[in-house]
Amino acid sequence: MIALFWELIPSKTMNLSILYTLFKNSTGVSTDTRKIAKGNLFFALKGPNFDANSFAPTALEMGASAVVIDDIAYFVEDDERYFFAEDSLKMLQDLANHHRKQLTIPIIGLTGSNGKTTTKELMKAVLSKKFKTAATDGNLNNHIGVPLTLLTITEEDEIALVEMGANKQGDIAELCQIAEPTHGMITNIGKAHLEGMGGPEGVLKTKTELFQFLRENGRTVFINSQDPILSNFVKRFENPVLYPSHGDFCEVIFQEANPFVKFSLGGEEEVFLTHLIGAYNFGNIATALTIGKFFGVEVEKAVEAIVNYQPSNMRSQLLEKRSNLIILDAYNANPSSMEVAIRTFGQMTGKKHKMLILGDMFELGEHAVTEHARLGEIISEYEIEKVCFTGQLIASALATYPKALFFPDTFSFRNWLQDSNLEDYLILIKGSRGMKLEGLVDFI
Ligand code: ATP
Ligand code: UDP
Ligand code: MG
Repeated sequence: MIALFWELIPSKTMNLSILYTLFKNSTGVSTDTRKIAKGNLFFALKGPNFDANSFAPTALEMGASAVVIDDIAYFVEDDERYFFAEDSLKMLQDLANHHRKQLTIPIIGLTGSNGKTTTKELMKAVLSKKFKTAATDGNLNNHIGVPLTLLTITEEDEIALVEMGANKQGDIAELCQIAEPTHGMITNIGKAHLEGMGGPEGVLKTKTELFQFLRENGRTVFINSQDPILSNFVKRFENPVLYPSHGDFCEVIFQEANPFVKFSLGGEEEVFLTHLIGAYNFGNIATALTIGKFFGVEVEKAVEAIVNYQPSNMRSQLLEKRSNLIILDAYNANPSSMEVAIRTFGQMTGKKHKMLILGDMFELGEHAVTEHARLGEIISEYEIEKVCFTGQLIASALATYPKALFFPDTFSFRNWLQDSNLEDYLILIKGSRGMKLEGLVDFI
């Protein structure tokens, strides 16, 4: 029986040194035949929809240099481009960590409940003024995305930014083991993915796994000393770099957010206007400027990078429709990003009328009713002429804000919007990704 088992294992079972050679001779790594490029090394991963072992022939047809599969049924013994691993995903992660170990450049890890991608993009803009900067592409921040990101870092790169996301406890610790960041920061700790992480305590534990890695390994940490949760960690590090103010080293001062954030620098009069909406973006800006200063980017160039940065992909984008100004924040939503968005919108001025459009927040599990109801309480603190709720879960907010107009589905809401012929409105649209609230814009 044992003999038979060994006979079944392909002769080309993978080891790391063979794999690294294959990687070095490839044009990069791919896990997706829909996006594969010629000469890529293909890793067949299993997901909720597909088992990519079955795509190995397609990957090769499309020009893959080799394929790593983990289901023996798909192994082709006499094709030298096939390699067998016990677990393709683990192999991908091991390869990424092996590659990372060859690198001697700063690797900056960042996580947090909100603002990771925005902060990463701002840091990239700033650091690119001085360094060849590698960074996570878009939102590739999980157990597959982080390895893929690491494998895009080349010998020419001088610094790298790695966004790390989490769905459950232990995720960030695992990503730290793979990426081994030399520097790191947490944007904030809020109420996101409450369901998977075991409530607010779980979120705190998960996100601070990055701090734990940095502390245990004597790495450099950047801490937002104005954040009520993160500031508690300052004393646990020997030499933390603080923002938005670290004495004379770097002081970033918030001016206003109506709707765009304006900031100034310590000891200087000039006020800089950004394209970023909402007071919550100030922390993201301060992080990027502090990192820039730390790594020796000239202050004028760093400020220029921030001032020119344009947010994209529905992350607090400003759109104009006739006489209306729309803040489209339909990329995602969770209790903490909703709260800061409502508060910042509540204080905005500039149009005759104001309308708040909120949709469901997902992934809250048992916290769904209370967290949606809390939104109503927050809205009540401000004078907002029209408030509209759309979705199912958000119905819980009617208990705390009964004045709101309620549309159980976006279809009925669209018709209402179209008939309303809104003019001279400032409008905020925010909801979870699954709500696809961006579809409403066409009807305003
Ligand atoms: P994901 O978990 O999807 O990777 P992320 O942490 O990368 O999200 P971003 O994509 O940068 O976050 O921003 C998503 C939304 O979060 C923004 O549109 C904005 O509404 C909100 N947001 C951004 N920065 C902050 C912040 N510092 N605090 C609270 N909310 C924020
Ligand atoms: N995949 C692929 N080609 C396809 C469809 C999927 O290579 O035509 C890969 C995909 O990139 C992932 C794996 O198969 O690595 C598992 O796919 P998943 O179940 O996650 O589905 P997806 O959400 O990617 O469609
Ligand atoms: Mg992100």
